[in-house]
Amino acid sequence: RPIYERANAFRMVNSGGKIPLGIKRKGLRIVVTGGAGFVGSHLVDRLIARGDSVIVVDNFFTGRKENVMHHFGNPRFELIRHDVVEPLLLEVDQIYHLACPASPVHYKFNPVKTIKTNVVGTLNMLGLAKRVGARFLLTSTSEVYGDPLQHPQVETYWGNVNPIGVRSCYDEGKRTAETLTMDYHRGAGVEVRIARIFNTYGPRMCIDDGRVVSNFVAQALRKEPLTVYGDGKQTRSFQYVSDLVEGLMRLMEGEHVGPFNLGNPGEFTMLELAKVVQETIDPDAKIEYRANTEDDPHKRKPDITKAKDLLGWQPKVDLRKGLPLMVTDFRQRIFGDHKEGVT
Ligand code: NAD
Ligand code: UDP
Ligand code: UDP
Repeated sequence: RPIYERANAFRMVNSGGKIPLGIKRKGLRIVVTGGAGFVGSHLVDRLIARGDSVIVVDNFFTGRKENVMHHFGNPRFELIRHDVVEPLLLEVDQIYHLACPASPVHYKFNPVKTIKTNVVGTLNMLGLAKRVGARFLLTSTSEVYGDPLQHPQVETYWGNVNPIGVRSCYDEGKRTAETLTMDYHRGAGVEVRIARIFNTYGPRMCIDDGRVVSNFVAQALRKEPLTVYGDGKQTRSFQYVSDLVEGLMRLMEGEHVGPFNLGNPGEFTMLELAKVVQETIDPDAKIEYRANTEDDPHKRKPDITKAKDLLGWQPKVDLRKGLPLMVTDFRQRIFGDHKEGVT
C-alpha cells in the first residue's frame, strides 16, 4: 500500500503534531467529497492553509462554487464535478467523505437519491480507499440515534430510528454508511474514522435550506416572523462550524476509529433559540407557530466525553458567540452589503 505508507511516514515524522526542527511537513493529497458545501468548504480552507493538496468532488446539489472559488488558481486545489454514486478513480492519501445533503428539506426532496448517495456513494469511496490504501473518514450524523430514548446520547447507544419514515433515507442511509465503513475496516483492513455530527451552523450555510438556524436568521434579517414548528419545546444542540472542522481533522489524524460524537453540548429549545436570534438581530422579531414535521426528534444533546478523552477535543464557540459570525455572512448574502456594528 505504497501511497498510504508514504502518508504514514509523514505522520510519524510529524508525531504529536510537532514537526522536528529541520524537517518540513510534506503535504498530503486529500479528497473532500461534498467539499463545495457548507462544512466541506470550511474544511477545505483549513487543509489548504495547512499545506495539503485538496481535490473537491461535488455534484453541486446543495453545494456552490462560490464556497470554494477563492482557491481557484491555487495549484494545490482542484474541483471536480462528479456524483459519488458513480465510481471514481483517483490517487490520494486521505478521503473526507461528506457528500450528502444535510438539511431535512434537501434530503427529503429526492429520498431515493439520498439513500443512493449514502449507500452507493459511500461504497464507492470505500472502494477507492481500499484500492489506493487511503484513510477514510465518514461524516455520519446524530440522526443515527433517531428520536433518542437516552439523553444525552452516548456513542454506545444504538438509537431509536423509524426504518420506514420520511427521514429514513437519511438516518437509515447514514446507519448503512457506518455499517459499510466498519465492514471495509474489518474485512479489507481499510483505515477508517467515523464522526457523528450534531447540528452545525455558520457562514456559508444555504440561506433557504429550511434548517432552523438558517431559517430564523434569514427571517429575522428580512423582518419576517420566526417560524417555530410544533410547540417549540423540542431541543437541539448547536455547534459552530470551526469547532466541527477542528474535530474532524483531529479524528482523521488520530489513532481512533470512533464513532465519535462531535457536537456542542449546549442544549436549546427552539423557543430559546428564537430568543437568542431576537437578541442578536431584532428584539421585535415575531414568532409564528407552524405544524411540526413528521418523526421530528424531541431532543438531542451529545455526550462528548469520548472525544474529549481520546481526541483532546471540545467546542470553543458557544451559540451567543457563533451566531453573530453567521449573521454577518447572511446579511452580506441577503442584502449584498455589510452594515458594520449592527451585529
Ligand atoms: P451541505 O448540503 O452544505 O453539503 C453537502 C455537499 O455534498 C454539497 O456540496 C452537495 O452538493 C454535495 N453532494 C450531495 N450529494 C452528492 C453526490 N451524490 N455526489 C457528490 N456530491 C454530493 O451539507 P453540510 O451541512 O455541509 O453537511 C456535510 C456532511 O456533514 C453531510 O454528510 C451531512 O450528512 C453531515 N452532517 C452535517 C450536519 C450539519 O448540521 N451541518 C449534521 C450532521 C451531519
Ligand atoms: N470504486 C471506485 N474507485 C476505486 C475503486 C473502487 O469508485 O478506485 C468503486 C467500485 O466501482 C465499486 C465500489 O467502489 O463499485 C466497491 O469497490 P470494491 O473494490 O470494494 O468492490 P467490488 O468492485 O469488488 O465490488
Ligand atoms: N424547526 C423550526 N423552525 C424552522 C425549521 C425547523 O422550529 O423554521 C425545528 C424542527 O422542527 C426541528 C428543529 O427545528 O425540531 C431542528 O430542525 P433542523 O431542520 O434544523 O435540523 P434536524 O435536527 O431536524 O435535522
